[in-house]
Amino acid sequence: MKQRRRRRLRSRPFPKEWLSLIQRHVVFFHRLSASDRAELLGHIQIFLAEKSFEGCGGFAITDEVRVVIAAQACLLLLHRNTDYFPGLLTILVYPLAYMVEEKRQLGEHVWEEGTVSRLGETGRRMGSLVLSWDAVKHGAADPADGKNVVLHEFAHQLDFENHATDGVPELATPQQQRSWSEVMKSEFASLRAADANEIPTLLNTYGATDPAEFFAVSVEAFFEHPHALRARHPKLYAELRNYFDQDPVEYSGEAIAT
Ligand SMILES: [Zn+2]
Repeated sequence: MKQRRRRRLRSRPFPKEWLSLIQRHVVFFHRLSASDRAELLGHIQIFLAEKSFEGCGGFAITDEVRVVIAAQACLLLLHRNTDYFPGLLTILVYPLAYMVEEKRQLGEHVWEEGTVSRLGETGRRMGSLVLSWDAVKHGAADPADGKNVVLHEFAHQLDFENHATDGVPELATPQQQRSWSEVMKSEFASLRAADANEIPTLLNTYGATDPAEFFAVSVEAFFEHPHALRARHPKLYAELRNYFDQDPVEYSGEAIAT
């Protein structure tokens, strides 16, 4: 039933207004091959039919908001068998960064409480994903600044697909799982060491928080700085390329240092 409904949605003509919103606001779309563009539009139809959106903090959800979020999230689905982020029902959108109360552990018995601002978040049992529209728009307009809140948060959703928050998405074979865990373990350890010693890194050091954040940050780098990631972290790049079954080097707008 689900498969049949999705096939029908995928083959529906793509609304012209939506397409022009994507062409206007989602820069990477122009660089994809014609067949990837067509595949992406099919995924967007399904995504938008299955997920609901809610505006927060007085924000109004428009077609532009829905389509610009969906286009970026669905880049993660190209070429793969996918169940369209099955744990996710609702996307909550704030106009700008939003404030949350957070308790942070500084030492064994030392906690710091305060208000911090966030651009997005999601959790395995939340059923929802939160985004700041301002950050979503920036992410769509600059596909090579190394940051993309939509890719980051939806990478967490991929991580949850095998029912754990551990930085390991669903991998097809035991060999893939072995090689993934070996590479991620050593890459995560080197990011933590670099962070502790204040050595500059290509990967955002927020990824040193834990393996789940490491995966999300690596996904951002894979799509935003693929040339640099491939050159400086070839094994990490290869794992991500195998998992996503795509090679962003082929369509990236990243400026390459010569
Ligand atoms: Zn995260």
